[in-house]
Amino acid sequence: LVQLSMPLNFMGMIYREIKQALIDIDDMFRILHRNPEIADRPNAPALVPGPAEVRFEDVHFAYNPDRPILRGVSFAVPSGKTVAIVGPSGAGKSTLSRLLFRFYEPQAGRITIDGQDIAAIRQDSLRAAIGMVPQDTVLFNDTIGYNIRYGRWEATEAEVREAARLAQIDRFIESLPEGYDTPVGERGLKLSGGEKQRVAIARTILKGPPILVLDEATSALDSFTESQIQDALDRIARGRTTLVIAHRLSTVVDADQILVLDKGVIVERGTHAALLDQDGVYAALWNRQREADAARAALRRAEEEA
Ligand code: ATP
Repeated sequence: LVQLSMPLNFMGMIYREIKQALIDIDDMFRILHRNPEIADRPNAPALVPGPAEVRFEDVHFAYNPDRPILRGVSFAVPSGKTVAIVGPSGAGKSTLSRLLFRFYEPQAGRITIDGQDIAAIRQDSLRAAIGMVPQDTVLFNDTIGYNIRYGRWEATEAEVREAARLAQIDRFIESLPEGYDTPVGERGLKLSGGEKQRVAIARTILKGPPILVLDEATSALDSFTESQIQDALDRIARGRTTLVIAHRLSTVVDADQILVLDKGVIVERGTHAALLDQDGVYAALWNRQREADAARAALRRAEEEA
């Protein structure tokens, strides 16, 4: 039996690796805009781990040459701090996260982690250092436990459960008849947007990367789910270098710095309080959103009374 189980274990490992490779390819090309033209330089070194300070230095970028998206963007996310990017739809916010992942490369300027130009280091080492909670998480056609464990295959059962607890998805999973073994995805149980996002958060907690990119969902979640997700995100962001791509303003109030991106340039930067004082673009966005929130709340009350 031992003789038989050895090769079986080995084949299981290979199968998992192939499956992971297929998932990665599918994942990146289809979902994360991976650009196959970006290749590592010969003998590129791995990222040397450090305090994880991220810097964008005068970054210029266009998907198509005739339409510049970023026009000289510079900012730093100091080690362990949170920087939030806000701005109108189409301003180029998510593009910043794609560049940090090196799915695309800037046409001018550079992006560094602890002083190392990310264009010069191996992509696998770069991506191992960054955890991404995307807008729309696509789940693999496997169990919910597998989908969390994807963050780190060697994790123990107890670690998977702890990650689920921190992401506030544990109770939901335990309420399912098959628990962690419940199939999800296209061919399994369909999860809501908020549940999928919490699975992605659990996966990221398990991965435990020094740098986090949180690309907030644009779709409206109900306010209970939103506050649960916000709590989970706050918890994983603590002590990590975090870039928040904010599509709603309610989540950026506590950021160490807020950058306002408009038409590919940073037009304002500061804390929430400082930017409100400044009474510029951010204050206008904030007031508009507050009015929209108030209008929505009034509508909900009217519906409830009817
Ligand atoms: P939102 O808040 O609506 O998500 P955003 O600020 O995150 O917007 P980006 O996703 O960064 O905006 O997109 C910036 C601009 O780049 C948009 O006008 C978009 O149409 C364009 N764009 C995004 N991805 C591509 C692509 N793969 N090829 C060409 N243009 C693209």
